Amino acid sequence: MTAPTPAQVRAWDDAHLWHPFTPHGVYRDEEPLLVAAGEGHYLVDTEGRRYLDAVGSLWCNLFGHRVPAIDAAIRAQLDQIAHSTLLGHSAVPPVLLARRLVELAPAGLTRVFFSDNGSTAVEVALKLALQFWQQHRGGQERERRLFVTLGAAYHGDTVGSVSLGGIELFHERYRPLLFDTLKVPPPYCYRCPFGRERATCALECATALEAAVRREGPRVAAIVLESGMLGAAGMIVQPDGFLRRARAVADEVGALLILDEVATGFGRSGRMFACEREGVAPDLLCLAKGLTGGYLPMAATLATERIFEAFLGPPAEGRTFFHGHTYTGNALASAAALATLDIFAQDGILEALPGKIARLGALLDGLRDLPAVGDIRQFGLAAGIELVQDRERRRSYPAAERRGMAVCRAARRHGVFLRPLGDTVVLMPPLTISDDELVHLMDAIRHGIEAATP
Ligand SMILES: *Cc1c(COP(=O)(O)O)cnc(C)c1O
Repeated sequence: MTAPTPAQVRAWDDAHLWHPFTPHGVYRDEEPLLVAAGEGHYLVDTEGRRYLDAVGSLWCNLFGHRVPAIDAAIRAQLDQIAHSTLLGHSAVPPVLLARRLVELAPAGLTRVFFSDNGSTAVEVALKLALQFWQQHRGGQERERRLFVTLGAAYHGDTVGSVSLGGIELFHERYRPLLFDTLKVPPPYCYRCPFGRERATCALECATALEAAVRREGPRVAAIVLESGMLGAAGMIVQPDGFLRRARAVADEVGALLILDEVATGFGRSGRMFACEREGVAPDLLCLAKGLTGGYLPMAATLATERIFEAFLGPPAEGRTFFHGHTYTGNALASAAALATLDIFAQDGILEALPGKIARLGALLDGLRDLPAVGDIRQFGLAAGIELVQDRERRRSYPAAERRGMAVCRAARRHGVFLRPLGDTVVLMPPLTISDDELVHLMDAIRHGIEAATP
């Protein structure tokens, strides 16, 4: 059988594939990439063109593609076994991985529950928190059922994680399926919900969170936050002190703190986990995207021993956590994750990050002269560049113009692959990106913005 031609594959793509988060009416017009291979930090399309993968294949790829050590780890694991169940039984690779994660995680997180993606990591945290309060101290605090979240938050696409989210465009349609949460205005400094500027900011966003949590006190099961940065909302960076105040008010009313580090975990912030920047440890920590270096779907929800203990007891008491996925703790994914963590340890990844983060910051500053650049938000080795039609009034482009997509498409002609969030151009480059590649990336973005904004 001969291999299909690129034209055939494109035709079959149009005929059969339903793409996620993709308006199919414009899909083909927006010149979608058709990837055939990867080479280090580059994606290679079916025509042999190479593009720097500047969004880490949607925020999960950490060290590029076809990383020899991760490839070898998966091949070696294939010679043992690909998958066996963790339901009531165990397997070597997920045990080793759980131990490694506990060693790396913030203090107090001693238990690891595996699942398959970021949404399930959050879904698990949500169910664990609810069930914990039913069972903790004989159910004395079973009234704790309320989750406090941020407007504009994104925690995934399953019904529970959508309930926690606050992005109208993604979530409104599903409203009839969702449960209520208490939503607090997000710390979106460029468009501050409290009308403040940097100079006048007194962290009103943190005060509002505290007030909401105190008001509901004994009904609050948990505060749920993306850790450090609201990713899908447009790379909205939380002001310093925000997480610390969330932790403190959770403690004050006796609620749990759930941190979603699906996007910010594994080095993105400059630390292994973003909450380390504020010296905060959550009760439940959700991890996914970078866990396997961008190779295989896998997620982990880490919990404290206090939470775990509330699930112990004779089986007849029904305290068990009745949740689990077929591929939970998959051996190939565990091998990829262990190899990923080895790379962090052996290749000095975290040690090299401060220099790269500073360099990214300096290069981003160089874009500020472009009139369409409204705000630049950097979070470690990630950034969002918000494009605006009118910088003075911070007025956005009409959504129908799809400016963000147009800019990314124009940048593609300069050899860089990007995918925006609305009119925010998102950068999630490999943690191992070189200085030359950073310069190339920023040149391509400048060209893209110049070409696609009036
Ligand atoms: C991507 C993301 C999720 C969802 O992860 P999936 O693997 O896409 O289900 C959840 N939370 C945050 C913060 C994310 O960025």
